[in-house]
Amino acid sequence: MPDTHASLRAEAQSLLSELGVREAAYGSGARQVVSPVDGSVLASVPMMEAGEVGEAISRAHEAYLAWRLVPAPRRGELVRLLGDELRAHKNALGRLVSLEVGKAPSEGLGEVQEMIDICDFAVGLSRQLYGLVIPSERADHKLTEQWHPVGVVGVISAFNFPVAVWSWNAALALVCGDAVVWKPSEKAPLTALATQAIFEKAAARFGDAPAGLSTLLLGERGVGEALVDDARVPVVSATGSTRMGRAVGERLARRFARAILELGGNNASIVTPSADLDLALRAVAFGAMGTAGQRCTTMRRLIVHESVYDTLVPRLKRVYGSISVGNPLTSDALVGPLIDGAAFEAMQTALQSATAVGGTVTGGERVDVNGDASFYVRPALVEMPAQTGPVVEETFAPILYVLKYRDLDEAIALQNGVPQGLSSSIFGTDMREIERYLSASGSDCGIANVNMGTSGAEIGGAFGGEKETGGGRESGSDAWKAYMRRQTNAINYGHSLPLAQGVKFDV
Ligand code: NAD
Repeated sequence: MPDTHASLRAEAQSLLSELGVREAAYGSGARQVVSPVDGSVLASVPMMEAGEVGEAISRAHEAYLAWRLVPAPRRGELVRLLGDELRAHKNALGRLVSLEVGKAPSEGLGEVQEMIDICDFAVGLSRQLYGLVIPSERADHKLTEQWHPVGVVGVISAFNFPVAVWSWNAALALVCGDAVVWKPSEKAPLTALATQAIFEKAAARFGDAPAGLSTLLLGERGVGEALVDDARVPVVSATGSTRMGRAVGERLARRFARAILELGGNNASIVTPSADLDLALRAVAFGAMGTAGQRCTTMRRLIVHESVYDTLVPRLKRVYGSISVGNPLTSDALVGPLIDGAAFEAMQTALQSATAVGGTVTGGERVDVNGDASFYVRPALVEMPAQTGPVVEETFAPILYVLKYRDLDEAIALQNGVPQGLSSSIFGTDMREIERYLSASGSDCGIANVNMGTSGAEIGGAFGGEKETGGGRESGSDAWKAYMRRQTNAINYGHSLPLAQGVKFDV
């Protein structure tokens, strides 16, 4: 094994130890954890069997029964401590994210910052889980609505935001009075172990948090399926591909459990004639090439007005030709590695399909950074004559399909003309066009931005998308309601029994 491999492995293991993960959890196990940065085997992790899931859920259920009785602001104190511990360990966890999934250092740190931000949000929320008092139609009656903890919340997460997704769900679920059982991506177990260790530090400081309040299940798909099928889990929040979401959604529907599905995107931006093209250029570069195209909100389609196409697209191609691709840990490269060889193959297949239906490809070739051990690519820009073939699918790699349009109706139809509905954006300064885009007949996505790209959401807003993106919402706004059960209460404080709708039933 070359020295660079040994050093990444040593660094990963030292970070795990610093973060409080026991060596038994990563020293030996069936699953090798490979860094996409240079192919190093960072650790070997024992994986759970599906048959062991039931016992873990029993413990989580017991924890929920106790936790739901703790006043919500006190529950918020645990999440405050979690945010505190994340602040203290931000550098180490952020670095581990970079080692495990290949994110640039600022993006690894940004992911942990997002965890801190949602903890802050949830602490405030712990005093604002408001119900309603609704005017009753009956005299001496009160009609109210209140929110109760719902139970054990299952979280299934994807490799590309290996820890932030857990926190979006867990921080809210914990203040809502739920227990959390987490099945992370099998490609990113180390950051999950570290996050669990950080949670345990917060729980120890809190003092009397019930055991099993946050449980980690490291396992393959079967472990996820066992979590999805367990009747003691009333809510499952699943983040990943649409294929996964379809399987999980169907299983949950069979037992009438609640699904929060956060699935694939095929996000488009429209560049109108009034756009600030310098700003658009920078936004497209980050949105389409940042994180090597491996964000659910990555910009995958660019719909450019014919009047600015010949100004913007050649400039964009020059940026694509010159963007730095390389090892994010040892250079300032803006584009790091793909997660694995399968992602590289999927990208090449999509580019071939695009060419076969008339696309003109710039970039997309493999870049030799560490020989065969890792998969770096030059991002691809593909000019398309029409929205066909791979353009209507999500390929989880840095491919930007560029299309030309004549009027805004056509641009909106193109943008909405795909099965996914996560994020979208428009560039322009013509207020009529912008407002039309944000209106009921405009973008059909869960996120619609103006004069920025499709990625990089803040935690204060509800996050999620429509159509095959799954319809779930996480994070800010009133997304917390998905982690609680609603109860309507009609209270008669009078001496008679008037019936609703004036019904008479005198006995
Ligand atoms: P993936 O679907 O391969 O895996 C995601 C998770 O689901 C993993 O933990 C996996 O073990 C689990 N899983 C897979 N099949 C399952 C099943 N039948 N039952 C239970 N669990 C199952 O996704 P990935 O490759 O890790 O991530 C990339 C995908 O995730 C992209 O499509 C991306 O758009 C999407 N994503 C969406 C969001 C969002 O918020 N909308 C955020 C991040 C990633």
